[in-house]
Amino acid sequence: MPRKVYVLDTSAVIAGFVPGLVKAEQVTVQEVLEEARDLCSKLELETAVVAGKVKVVSPSREALDEIRREVIQTGDVVSAVDVKLLALTLDLKRAGDEPELMTDDYAIQNLASLFGLPYQRIAMPGIKEVLRWEMVCPACDRRYPPPAPRCEVCGSRLVRRPRR
Ligand SMILES: [Zn+2]
Repeated sequence: MPRKVYVLDTSAVIAGFVPGLVKAEQVTVQEVLEEARDLCSKLELETAVVAGKVKVVSPSREALDEIRREVIQTGDVVSAVDVKLLALTLDLKRAGDEPELMTDDYAIQNLASLFGLPYQRIAMPGIKEVLRWEMVCPACDRRYPPPAPRCEVCGSRLVRRPRR
């Protein structure tokens, strides 16, 4: 039976993918750990690496070259890290595993489909906070429902702010 392996992208970690909660094997590349350095999710990811839940793997040179060649042809703008993640997923697929690239990045998703590599989005529709706006007077701090242009009291031009 093929192994199910999740390949973790930085966007997956940002979107709240918790490696510790998943049974399937998980891999990522060193650069993702570095990219995650400034995030709150960093600790979660590092803990998972230390605990052996997430393995840090390098893709093969062949897969890297192959992905790079294709990327140049498509003209897609992706980072070196993205290329590595795609190459890693390709390696796993060729090794007979059942990889799935976990990413919320559209450019990577596009390339993954191009290569026939399975991917999964993390952020569920509706899970993200819906921003509501209000119009605020910068002079007297009165609030109005949008799209009010000016303060009815002092006449100042209103600014749009997320409502708390
Ligand atoms: Zn005002």
